[in-house]
Amino acid sequence: MSELIIIGGGLAGCEAAWQAAARGINVTLYEMRPHTTTPAHTTSFLAELVCSNSLGAKDIHHASGLLMEELSKLDSLVLQCAKQTALPAGGALAVDRAAFATLITEKISTHPKIRIVRQEITEIPQQPAVIASGPLTSEHLASSIQTLCGQDNLFFFDAIAPIVSAESINMNIAFKASRYAEDNTAGDYINCPLNKDEYEAFVEALLSAERIRLRDFENEIQTGVKTNSARYFEGCLPIEVLASRGKDALAYGPMRPTGLYNPNTHKRPYAVVQLRQDNLAATLYNMVGFQTNLTYAEQQRVFRTIPALENAEFVRFGQMHRNTFILSPALLLPTLQFRYQPDLFFAGQITGIEGYMGNIATGLIAGINAAHWLLGKPIIPTPPATMIGALLQYITHAETSCFQPMKANFGILPPLDSPIRHKQQRIQQHLQRAQNAMNQYLLTLAEI
Ligand SMILES: Cc1cc2nc3c(=O)[nH]c(=O)nc-3n(C[C@H](O)[C@H](O)[C@H](O)COP(=O)(O)OP(=O)(O)OC[C@H]3O[C@@H](n4cnc5c(N)ncnc54)[C@H](O)[C@@H]3O)c2cc1C
Repeated sequence: MSELIIIGGGLAGCEAAWQAAARGINVTLYEMRPHTTTPAHTTSFLAELVCSNSLGAKDIHHASGLLMEELSKLDSLVLQCAKQTALPAGGALAVDRAAFATLITEKISTHPKIRIVRQEITEIPQQPAVIASGPLTSEHLASSIQTLCGQDNLFFFDAIAPIVSAESINMNIAFKASRYAEDNTAGDYINCPLNKDEYEAFVEALLSAERIRLRDFENEIQTGVKTNSARYFEGCLPIEVLASRGKDALAYGPMRPTGLYNPNTHKRPYAVVQLRQDNLAATLYNMVGFQTNLTYAEQQRVFRTIPALENAEFVRFGQMHRNTFILSPALLLPTLQFRYQPDLFFAGQITGIEGYMGNIATGLIAGINAAHWLLGKPIIPTPPATMIGALLQYITHAETSCFQPMKANFGILPPLDSPIRHKQQRIQQHLQRAQNAMNQYLLTLAEI
């Protein structure tokens, strides 16, 4: 039987290798470290965590907790190693990062079906393969991926704006309208109007808010000096950097009120924050032009000073950092197969998923599906009602014109048959449906 090539021995690549090998596939896992390294990794271990050592909240009522449950049912190696190397961290699953990476390296390197090759891959393999080279994919490989996917379909930076839940927006203040639309009572955007005083107070709060300290290799995002992706970067300065260019810079930029009239006051607002629908179910809204480097706590504090967002629930905070990812909605199937070459799979952060658990999950699914491909078995899509399936659905169905990475959250699950207002009850229903769907998926996998 032919072998499976996996590029990248990070969280996703290790999980993919393990899952495929567990199904009898011979795997060759290519990891370029230590010969060639990334700007963030410092060791030669597989599955090195480059930042936080927390894999998220364990409680199943959190998206990360539900992912953990699903990964546990699917026999995830990485989750198992995380549990074995866990540190006391309250409700979170935090690990001793050295022990975690050591254990995974040991498990992978002693598996009889897995061969580790310490080598940088620069070309796309012409045989069944999983590309799991991560947010810091080497330059040569990135260039081959760009040739494969198309010049405009590979990105080098996140420029993520926050997303708020639709139900948390105060619609007594906000109004729906599209710029220049003749009918002022409807439109595609939700607009949060500000008067002059509110706008000035907001800008002041924004400028004095605490920012995340960038790594050296990420500083180019702020300064505009040296970048691989001019297309992506030029129009995407952090909102606080734009604001620092002059007190009305935002009112003439992303917060311009041009073509918008507030049906409540019959006036043009001094400034507006536009919110754009982010998922088909219209449960999530994206703050247009609000990519930012403020700390998460400061984003919540400062953005809640915007009238209509005073109770906003942030399902994703804004961020900007170096991140190589493909335009998955145009290029991938929900099975993580490349649309134009079905024996090529993508996994991990390069697919446009954020967060350790979500990236482990894509590795797991790519490993199972690649094994099925090699074994001639049917490839079963993960049900969208599960948290793993919802993530895969999101990255493969999001709007292509403004695709940005997504982290697991309850807002991406398909809407319930009958809406439930009470949040805890709603989550309970989602959980029950997700668990049933996962059990059904496991049964189907066991039968084929
Ligand atoms: C600076 C930084 C901080 C981060 N902080 C967090 C955080 O706190 N929490 C969080 O959830 N996520 C964080 N992330 C995202 C995090 O990287 C991912 O969640 C996770 O590591 C992604 O897993 P992965 O397997 O896709 O990529 P990685 O874990 O990065 O693994 C990819 C592997 O591929 C290898 N590789 C790259 N190119 C090649 C090649 N051409 N040939 C062979 N091997 C190659 C790399 O050496 C690496 O080992 C951070 C990312 C960065 C860059």
